[in-house]
Order: sequence, then structure tokens, then C-alpha cells
Amino acid sequence: MADKQDYYEILGISRDADQNAVKRAYRRLARKHHPDVSSDPEAETRFKQINEAYQVLSDPDKREVYDNYGHQGLEGGANGQGYGGGMGDFGGFGDIFDMFFGGAQTTRTTGGRPSAERGNDLRYDLEMTLEEAAHGFSKEIRYTRMEQCDTCKGSGAEPGTHPETCSVCHGSGQVRQQQQSFFGTQIRITTCPKCHGEGRTVGSPCHACSGQGRMRKTVDRTVDIPAGVDTGMRVRVTGQGDAGRRGGHNGDLYIITHVKKHDYFERRGSDLWCEVKIGFPTASLGGEIDVRTIDGTEQLEVSAGTQSGEVYVLRGKGLPDPTGGRQGDLNVLLRVETPTKLNDEQKDILRKFAEMRGEEIKDVQGKSFFERVKDAIHGL
Ligand SMILES: [Zn+2]
Ligand SMILES: [Zn+2]
Repeated sequence: MADKQDYYEILGISRDADQNAVKRAYRRLARKHHPDVSSDPEAETRFKQINEAYQVLSDPDKREVYDNYGHQGLEGGANGQGYGGGMGDFGGFGDIFDMFFGGAQTTRTTGGRPSAERGNDLRYDLEMTLEEAAHGFSKEIRYTRMEQCDTCKGSGAEPGTHPETCSVCHGSGQVRQQQQSFFGTQIRITTCPKCHGEGRTVGSPCHACSGQGRMRKTVDRTVDIPAGVDTGMRVRVTGQGDAGRRGGHNGDLYIITHVKKHDYFERRGSDLWCEVKIGFPTASLGGEIDVRTIDGTEQLEVSAGTQSGEVYVLRGKGLPDPTGGRQGDLNVLLRVETPTKLNDEQKDILRKFAEMRGEEIKDVQGKSFFERVKDAIHGL
């Protein structure tokens, strides 16, 4: 796995920076490196790194995982596989605008209630053929996620009843604990044990969701996979993750792409490679041959005197780059075939051909390989 830069380093903050410091650093760097603003050719890459670092460090859960396990902790999925390297994010540049124009992920409700909590992001591993990856496609996928309970509309209270403000924390979701220690009195703020941070308690819990306000449901969604994706890339489907709590936004769904190995083409980034056999007369005299491409067939002009192992490039016949780079090429590796199973006439022609070139063929005429071995053994 390529060494990824530390997220704290990217944002230029210390490891104990608080959320405000994270946000300030992000705003400053995002304004400076936004590709619409900066003339630096590296701006886009830099901007993506800044965004990625911010996504993680601004989310307490992700930050904790990152602090404990580093980049690998975040990339490893449910099955523990890490996909190093090309984690392309097609989420675009929306986040910066959400942030500058007030659409922040966490919203505070009035009246001292605990803040809304965004739903979890979900991961879906999608396998596809090279053809599908090359052209892009839409596919309906089925997965389970947390959704707001229809019966109680997310409140957790049985219809007709209402949640009440928690009597322990008075709705803040947090309690202050005083502790006497050697250094004096310490005040710790912890999650309220009665309401578990909800700030309210439900007298009669909703029968459908047992008072959770959310329930696991199976959903079918059509996802669009852009052309050119490679194994290990992430396609973000905004808002299709778990429902949030207390009116928080939905998390996102990330499609992790897995492109199956192809029996004919080999892929290297956006470029494709294939091996094509040509007869030695074509290689010697030159001529047009048909070459299979990911879209169909192309004609390739082989020059006279082509050697086995030469590579011809069909420009633009590879895969598109989903991040907007150049279209890949198809590299055709030519293998010149030596003819086998020649009939007598063909052999004669080849011998004449060799003679005309002054190439001496030493083999004994008309004797097979085994006869020659026998001759050798008998000393004839
Ligand atoms: Zn309910
Ligand atoms: Zn409470």
C-alpha cells in the first residue's frame, strides 16, 4: 500500500486539536486549494486530500478509528479486506459548498436538546465485468439500512404519546460528574445514563421500533457506476446510508467496485493490453489484421518486417478515466506464429525461400525427428 500522508499533517493541526480547530484549518486550506480558485496544477489532488482528512477528523467515530488504527482502520471493510491505493471518490466538490453555505452535517435543535446525529455511512461491495466497468452502468442493488420508523416518525414514542424531557439531564443528554482527586476537584462530562444521550425518555415506547425511532429495512436502490472504475474505488451515493438520529441527515452509501479479471484483456490503469497472433507471412509482408477491442473490432495495420513481441498502440481504445484524465489506450502485443503441420508443397516453398536467402537448412530431408534420433543412436 502506498504511504498515505497523515490526516493531521494534511490539515496542519496537532493530534489533540478540537473540532473547531479542525474546522478552521479545513476552511482555510479548502479556500486556498479549491480547484476553482487555485492555479496550482496539484490543487485538485491537494483538495481531495484536504477533504478526505476533514471527513475523517471532523467525525468523532471515524477520528477514533483513525487515531487507533490509522488509514488501514478506515479502509478495512466488514470483511476485513483493505483496498490500498486508488480510493477514488466521485463525490465531487459538493462538501465545501455545504459547509460554507450552512448545510453542515450536525444541526442543533433549539431548547437545549442534544444535537442531531448523522446516520452511519454504509459500504456495498459490487462486482462487475471489465465491459461493465469500461462503459459504466446502472444497477439495482438490495441492502439493509436503518430507516426512520414509519409508525412513530422517528420519535420512538407510541403514536398518541410524546417523549418527555429526561428528568436526569433535563434534556441536554449529558451529565456532569465531580470527582475528587489528588489534584483537586475534576469535572467530567459524560453521556446521561438514563436517556443515553437522547435528552428525552419515552414513557410508552413505539411498538414497531421498540422506542428506537429507527428500524432496519431492506431497500432496493438503483446506483450509477461511472465508466472507467477500477477495483477498490468508491462511488458515493449521497444520503443512501443509515437514517440519522434525532432528525440528523442520512449517512452515505459507498459502492466499492470490484472488476473481475478478463479472459482476453489485461488492464493496467486505464490502458488495456492483449496478445494477438499473426502469421509470419503477414509479419514479413505487412497487412491489415482485425483486433478485438472492448467495444468490438478495430483494424490494425501491421508494417512489413514486424518482429514477434512488437507492441502496437491503438490510441484511445482503452478505458475512460473516471476522474477526468485521458482515455486509455489498447496495447496490442504481436506474436509471430511459426507454422506447424506443413504439407510437402509448403515445405518445398520454404526450402526454396531459404535457399534464395542463402539460409542453409541442415536437416536430413524426409527423415522424421525419431528417425534422426535412431540414426544418432546407431551411429549412422
Ligand atoms: Zn417507532
Ligand atoms: Zn438524560
